[in-house]
Amino acid sequence: MEFETLAIHAGQEPDPTTGALTVPIHQTSTYLQSAVGENKGYDYSRAANPTRSALETCLASLEGAEHGVAFASGLGASTTLMHLINPGDRVVAVNDVYGGVYRMFAQVYEPKGYLFEWVSHEEINENLAAHLDERTRIVWLETPTNPLMNVVDIRAAADAAHEAGAMVVVDNTFASPYLQQPLSLGADVVLHSTTKYLGGHSDLIGGFVATSDPTVAERLYFLQKSLGAVPGPLDCWLVLRGAKTLAVRMRQHCDNAMAIAGFLDRHPRVEKVLYPGLPHHPGHAIASRQMRDFGGMISFLVESEDEAVALVERTKIWKLAESLGGVESLIEIPALMTHMSTAESPFAAPPNLIRLSVGLEAPKDLLDDLEVALAVSVATTGA
Ligand SMILES: *Cc1c(COP(=O)(O)O)cnc(C)c1O
Repeated sequence: MEFETLAIHAGQEPDPTTGALTVPIHQTSTYLQSAVGENKGYDYSRAANPTRSALETCLASLEGAEHGVAFASGLGASTTLMHLINPGDRVVAVNDVYGGVYRMFAQVYEPKGYLFEWVSHEEINENLAAHLDERTRIVWLETPTNPLMNVVDIRAAADAAHEAGAMVVVDNTFASPYLQQPLSLGADVVLHSTTKYLGGHSDLIGGFVATSDPTVAERLYFLQKSLGAVPGPLDCWLVLRGAKTLAVRMRQHCDNAMAIAGFLDRHPRVEKVLYPGLPHHPGHAIASRQMRDFGGMISFLVESEDEAVALVERTKIWKLAESLGGVESLIEIPALMTHMSTAESPFAAPPNLIRLSVGLEAPKDLLDDLEVALAVSVATTGA
């Protein structure tokens, strides 16, 4: 079945007892047992819940995966993945990861004796093998990266990692499974913050992991119930509802973003636009190969930090807020907001960088709002 059909039907057969067409929100912690140890497949909702099972089946199908495991947040999913390895093991990670993942690795796992090496996307694309040794268990990738929109060649990285016996994890939050399917490119595990495009409406926090490796999947189900970072039934239901429209939403996010990236690229007040859909973007060729389209996230540089701060306060439709992937357009300054935790790292986001999450409003309104905000400059107003 095709993506759009799976999104609406996978794991979502009408309820056999009532005929309810939509998967019910099974808001229950426990389940009746007909005799000791005899049940209908559910005994306690940390271990399994029918609404969560439906979500796991649906999202796994969207990633082309055999198994899916849902979590309470993207970071809940990440910390559970880290329990696949032990202190003394090495992780090689692309250096501009999501700020919260960087904070977790640098401030939680590194002090416990896990070893990390941060490698640039260029170095991963050209020379990953040189950074791997027998202690390297995980190669942790994100592409396009947040917030610098760098593109990592997943297939090349997976080949090098497997040669060295390491597992490849791809954080696919920015692309969503509609635009990019890392397992088909050789990755072993895909990670999502479902808070973003999969949920798509800025109304929940959630995480998800997909894999087709049965050993990894079995361990993850064990860790899911043993560590307990599970999502509640309502949040699962909201992600399931969001996923039904993922394909149409992503198509519009991409169209809107392409129009806005072109506009910014031609604007004299904009120093540089980082969007893999632009032909001059260094990752354009790789992104064209491994993505269906270029996504709804754009970063751009303006003249100065002062200019950036003033600009994000001037827009009206673009709301100043963290997060991304919702129907509404958001604007933010990574260095001062989402990526504060990387400020001390060698790959801190530039202070004059603005990140856009392009929503589904009419592109004309989004362009007009940016045009007005860019027309005034701090230098001329003295503000
Ligand atoms: C938001 C985000 C996360 C973390 O997910 P939460 O749901 O906020 O815990 C991880 N990776 C990326 C790329 C993200 O954007």
